[in-house]
Amino acid sequence: MIRVRFAPSPTGMFHVGGARSALYNWAFALRHGGTFVLRIEDTDQSRNRPEWTEGIISALAWLGISKESPHFEGPYFQSSYEKLHREAAQRLLSEGKAYYCTCTRDDVKARTGSEYQGYDGYCRDRGLTEGAIRFRTPDDGVTVVDDVVRGRVEFPNAAMEDFVIVRGDGSPLFILANVVDDMEMRITHVIRAEEHLSNTPKQQLLWEALGARPPVWAHVPVIVNEKRQKLSKRRDKVALESYREEGYLPEAMVNYLMLLGWGPGGDREIMPWPEMVQCFRLEDVNPSPAFFDEKKLRAFNGEYIRALSPEDFAARCEPYLDPSWDRKVFARVAPLAQTRISVLSEIRDYVDFLFLDEPVFDQASWDKAMKPGAAEILAEYAERLESVEWTPEALKTALEEVGAAHGLKLAKAQAPVRVAVTGRTVGLPLFESIEVLGRERSLARVRAALA
Ligand code: GLU
Repeated sequence: MIRVRFAPSPTGMFHVGGARSALYNWAFALRHGGTFVLRIEDTDQSRNRPEWTEGIISALAWLGISKESPHFEGPYFQSSYEKLHREAAQRLLSEGKAYYCTCTRDDVKARTGSEYQGYDGYCRDRGLTEGAIRFRTPDDGVTVVDDVVRGRVEFPNAAMEDFVIVRGDGSPLFILANVVDDMEMRITHVIRAEEHLSNTPKQQLLWEALGARPPVWAHVPVIVNEKRQKLSKRRDKVALESYREEGYLPEAMVNYLMLLGWGPGGDREIMPWPEMVQCFRLEDVNPSPAFFDEKKLRAFNGEYIRALSPEDFAARCEPYLDPSWDRKVFARVAPLAQTRISVLSEIRDYVDFLFLDEPVFDQASWDKAMKPGAAEILAEYAERLESVEWTPEALKTALEEVGAAHGLKLAKAQAPVRVAVTGRTVGLPLFESIEVLGRERSLARVRAALA
């Protein structure tokens, strides 16, 4: 029975990299009819906050990874397993696979007379009964990590110090707690970020020392920005929540994140989730760094927006609309916006002119459109608006004629009218916008722009 886990530490906003790891675990569990365990690694009390845990759970649910599924188990909290972590350390002590140590870094330096280059093993055979607990690593040979993504990776044991598994104050370290929990939760595959590859030989030794067969390891590649730097929360927009707020659809986000290091083969990219699950294989994850391309994500999102039914699109726009805006009017223009926006939050700027007493004028648009000659166009079009047949076609023909009389193509003649009516130089198709806005209000706006 395949059991995977996602084991985030609740020490900050939930990151797109964490979301990608979670999705790989989720896809793998679903693909094999296995179980996805959510384990919150909350042992660093000074850095944890309950809202980060809430944030993780709600972000996962947004991506479709939720308790509702029979494949989901948890959340478990690492802090409630501390007793097991200590017991494991005691077992290692009693079997001579670990020992107490009271050395400080300075003690080691004083003995080795150099920069600290790992623990020198001084307490190995002193038979102490208190202190920090160190794991006894092999002196020679290599520890081989067989990673599904990275292949065979060898770590010379001579370079691996006897590492600490329990601090002097009795608190277990991540390296131990993480292994004991995986063992307790019968995890078969550890799919996690590449930054943990360096912990893996130590963890593999711990699995073996505790008498169990290590899981299958799969370290997924780092995610980098356009400068090829590892994504960082100080520099890059990495919080999943900010994408959600901006109006990225979860299905687009899922699709895009899945492709950060994996592909279904061929040049297919946009793919429904059930199909991705069907073809997801850890062997196909690419070890080289994956570029997080926000532009591409936006383009994906636009495609997903266009694939929604009109009703679904209108419903998803809800959080971005003012409660006072007439939804019947909105429904008339929503399909026009659906083909144009890339993220849902853009909807406001496209449609607000229909609901406000006056459009929001953007000064740069105004200056660009209200060139010499614009006033004549506006004045003549206003006259036509009084009596023209109220259809987009007739509204268009009327402006074409006004423009032609001044030697202007439609695009040029449209600019001042568009800014007068909507406040902006880009937006929904102009004549449909005027039609929906109505004769009286459109006329008033064109005249106001003249004043
Ligand atoms: N709590 C660790 C982290 O968030 C988990 C590492 C792992 O998946 O084993 O980086």
